[in-house]
Amino acid sequence: MTLQLGPLREESPASSRIYDVIIIGGGAAGLTAGLYAARAKMDTLLLEKAVWGGQIAYTGLVENYPGFPDGAMGPDLAVWMYDQATKQGLQTLST
Ligand SMILES: Cc1cc2nc3c(=O)[nH]c(=O)nc-3n(C[C@H](O)[C@H](O)[C@H](O)COP(=O)(O)OP(=O)(O)OC[C@H]3O[C@@H](n4cnc5c(N)ncnc54)[C@H](O)[C@@H]3O)c2cc1C
Repeated sequence: MTLQLGPLREESPASSRIYDVIIIGGGAAGLTAGLYAARAKMDTLLLEKAVWGGQIAYTGLVENYPGFPDGAMGPDLAVWMYDQATKQGLQTLST
């Protein structure tokens, strides 16, 4: 099995602007926090130093995630979490 790792998308430029919320760590926890903050209309930036999705991006079949009766591949979950959060307006930056 070949895992696709690395940045998922080009990030928005952070420049010198002021955000309502800055989250450090783009794993499942950070992406979830970012999703909620962005949906709450807060100007939110998520910083990640390695791989979007965190540990789950290195995982194979995840069988205990609700909503996926047949399980889901970790790298797929990472992409879907990232896409869902950024679609709601979360801004991201690889550090
Ligand atoms: C091989 C493997 C298999 C697994 N299988 C399952 C499973 O089947 N089911 C399950 O429920 N869980 C599984 N897990 C556990 C699951 O992946 C973790 O519980 C989950 O990833 C934790 O999410 P998190 O966001 O809290 O932390 P992490 O995923 O660790 O994310 C933290 C992120 O923060 C980033 N970060 C840290 N410091 C900084 C900094 N200073 N600046 C910027 N970024 C920073 C890291 O690079 C990382 O991306 C597995 C884990 C592994 C390794």
